[in-house]
Amino acid sequence: MKSHAKAVVIGGGVVGCSVLYHLAKAGWTDILLIERSELTSGSSWHAAGGFHTLNGDPNVAKLQAYTVQLYKEIEEISGQSCSLHLTGGVMMADTPERMDFLRLAHAKGRYLGMDTELITPSEAKAMFPLMDETNFVGAMWDPVEGHLDPSGTTHAYAKAARKLGAEIVLRNRVVELTQEVDGTWNVVTEQGTVKAEHVVNCGGLWAREIGRMVGVELPVLAMEHMYLLTEPMPEVEEFNKSTGREMIGVLDFKGEIYTRQERNGILLGTYEKACKPWSPVNTPWDFGHELLQPDIDRIAPSLEIGFKHFPGIEKAGIKQIINGPFTFALDGNPLVGPVQGLTNFWCACAVMAGFSQGGGVGLALSNWMVHGDPGFDVWGMDVARFGEWATLRYTNAKVRENYSRRFSIRFPNEELPAARPAQTTPLYDTMLANNAVMGDSWGLETPLWFAPKGSEPKDIVSFHRSNDFGPIGEEVRATRERVGVTEIANFAKYEVSGPGAEDFLNRLMTNRMPKTGRIVLTPMLNEFGRLIGDFTIAKAGEERFMIWGSSAAQKYQMRWFEKHLPKDGPRASEVRIHRFDQTLVGLSIAGPKSRDLLQKLVDVDISTKAFRFMDFREMAVGGAPCMVNRITYTGDLGYEIWMAPAYQRLVYKAIKEAGEEFGLIDFGMRALLSMRLEKNFPTWFRELRPIYGPFEGSMDRFIKLEKNDFIGREAAAREQAAGPKLRRVSFIVDAADADVMGDEPIWAKVGGKDYGTVEKPHGYGAPRFDAGGKEVRGSSAAEGASAVRGIVDGDWRVVGWVTSGGYAHYVEKSMAQGYVPAALAENESAGLFEIEILGHRRPARINVEPPFDPSGEKMRT
Ligand SMILES: Cc1cc2nc3c(=O)[nH]c(=O)nc-3n(C[C@H](O)[C@H](O)[C@H](O)COP(=O)(O)OP(=O)(O)OC[C@H]3O[C@@H](n4cnc5c(N)ncnc54)[C@H](O)[C@@H]3O)c2cc1C
Repeated sequence: MKSHAKAVVIGGGVVGCSVLYHLAKAGWTDILLIERSELTSGSSWHAAGGFHTLNGDPNVAKLQAYTVQLYKEIEEISGQSCSLHLTGGVMMADTPERMDFLRLAHAKGRYLGMDTELITPSEAKAMFPLMDETNFVGAMWDPVEGHLDPSGTTHAYAKAARKLGAEIVLRNRVVELTQEVDGTWNVVTEQGTVKAEHVVNCGGLWAREIGRMVGVELPVLAMEHMYLLTEPMPEVEEFNKSTGREMIGVLDFKGEIYTRQERNGILLGTYEKACKPWSPVNTPWDFGHELLQPDIDRIAPSLEIGFKHFPGIEKAGIKQIINGPFTFALDGNPLVGPVQGLTNFWCACAVMAGFSQGGGVGLALSNWMVHGDPGFDVWGMDVARFGEWATLRYTNAKVRENYSRRFSIRFPNEELPAARPAQTTPLYDTMLANNAVMGDSWGLETPLWFAPKGSEPKDIVSFHRSNDFGPIGEEVRATRERVGVTEIANFAKYEVSGPGAEDFLNRLMTNRMPKTGRIVLTPMLNEFGRLIGDFTIAKAGEERFMIWGSSAAQKYQMRWFEKHLPKDGPRASEVRIHRFDQTLVGLSIAGPKSRDLLQKLVDVDISTKAFRFMDFREMAVGGAPCMVNRITYTGDLGYEIWMAPAYQRLVYKAIKEAGEEFGLIDFGMRALLSMRLEKNFPTWFRELRPIYGPFEGSMDRFIKLEKNDFIGREAAAREQAAGPKLRRVSFIVDAADADVMGDEPIWAKVGGKDYGTVEKPHGYGAPRFDAGGKEVRGSSAAEGASAVRGIVDGDWRVVGWVTSGGYAHYVEKSMAQGYVPAALAENESAGLFEIEILGHRRPARINVEPPFDPSGEKMRT
């Protein structure tokens, strides 16, 4: 074994081998994979080997499509067969709601280039005759589904990586990881120590233990999983003979089961409700190529539904039941990327569908390690998406919930109950007493809306407008016409201080830093000129800045801040950064009476001139020391008031008492989001994401190219000079009883005209630039997978996609935001656009100016 390597990959399952292959392919050949036992000694060897492209997150779905497409490539390079069976598959809906879900998935697939089709149960039965089609109302066909040989596939990755120069060491456990002051990792193994620049945790079932070697508790848990194999079935053989085809894969939402042909019989797997974690605290190092004891009682309820829906299978004899463990993160998607707080320690773990996702994970991670950027929108699987609140027990509760609902529909207004409440603010009980319906905002209980007194504070989950519609309308109208108060503890909050603070922020942010006592809004870009942050920044003192952003992005953005902190030399101590998390909480008051209300609570003059729009001031509010921003996300006259948690109850009580004479109302997050819609304000992770440039995102006025050399400036200048290909726009939609949710296709009546690309930009094979500033794309395989078909229907064509939307209650309009080709972005003509909602195309019209207070006069008064 070599003593030095550029990178050491720990773990020889399908994911580790894919990471190794992609690193080697990207040109890093001085790399080493270390495997405790033989390749596939974790979950990989006993997988059912199924693969598919569909995923709730369209960006993860794209990476799955890439994975499936990659198998031919690794077979060719390695000479090792993956035994690929591309059979295609169907998802079966047994209720109208599940059919709505399939319509949504099908619509999303339109701009992702997926060839899905909505079909009847009888059509599905023709491809899988063992089902009783009367149990279903419809289905969706996906041609890119099938199964493969898990062991052959893992070895194909490994052989291909070896051919490209990578090394693999077997039967050698990594026992310790330490880091030198210069950042070099000591990878201590049973056979000696390897010095490495980078370490990748692909430990699968032991990923948690490897995390612990560097002091990190990764939110990952193994679950027992069972599938059964039947004896050969004459019906299967007969079908194969008469059609010349294999039976397809079938996913049954109701039973939380999947089934497909395996040899001459059937394989049927379950995600049972009574699911069971495996080794919930520690994974034994001596666990190897063994299976767990099957527990038929546990899966009996799923089997009962399965046999009812697929009576053809019930008759068959069961040959074997496989029970094996594999790992999950809280939401079922992988944990990929650099771990915040560490240097050059990377993760590619919690990959629960290694044969659907392993290739995409390997590609994204290798891009990230080699080029400094994953190259795709990988937020859906970024290891930074969970906070410190995702402890061992929290993870256990959430993973069990996720497993048992693996194929269940998650409605857009559905909050999941497991592991809640976790974090609460001091106002939690008060909010419950006020009849708040609470939601989980990055682990924090946050009021969503307030149910009328006497009614149960509970969402009726639906794809359509629901029981929150009326109360949210009330909250919005009362706020717009009088004054409202809401909790904003769930924002991210940071303080950057020290003599180098301003230079540091000027280097990171696209906008000029404010003068003391003033506020600016500013995006943050990566080197490729892509949006990686959107902040409110106040200059609180000569060397002190307060920053607010999106709560879910806290670790993601801290990772970026830390990466760019001055590291050594005299400047190293000049910048300090502090993330408050829940040690700073907030309340926002908004509406025309908000100034009168606040004036009653403070002893300083806050008249229009004394405390202007976008001013920041520290002042006592209701007797509590607070920081106050004269700005709100409602786009109305209003204030954000920040305080230590110990004061939050005091301030809230004071606001409530003082607000009585003005008709103050409590409003929740959903009303806030409704109000931002009628102001055309974007949201982070919806409208603004790392796949968009700042001009595409219509953030032009916050990009000051002339101010100084900030990160991403050159790329942004190029984008501006060339003109953005796409633009973020707001639409008013002629909706019926359902509003957009996000990811719906936008159609335009363009006739024969070509308004440019319909591809989701850079979601795949993201732009990278060579030394000469020329844009270079990702690997050819990645590019192939990104090819989005132009979807045409007569004169109509899919030209873009929705990012978010909903009902804007004050202006009484259904609204949507999304991206369209720039040439169409200013076109407000009626009859030009349609947006697909739950499978029905609804007329939509671009609205360049926000429908509420277009001049911004109200918030400036
Ligand atoms: C019953 C069952 C059915 C499944 N069906 C499917 C399916 O149909 N489709 C699908 O896509 N997925 C399926 N899966 C899931 C799939 O198996 C996993 O997604 C995949 O195997 C994860 O691969 P991995 O490389 O991340 O982890 P693992 O396969 O667990 O590999 C991790 C490797 O790291 C090594 N390692 C750990 N610690 C160390 C250390 N300290 N030093 C050196 N080496 C170390 C281990 O020995 C192991 O070989 C199934 C799983 C099960 C259990």
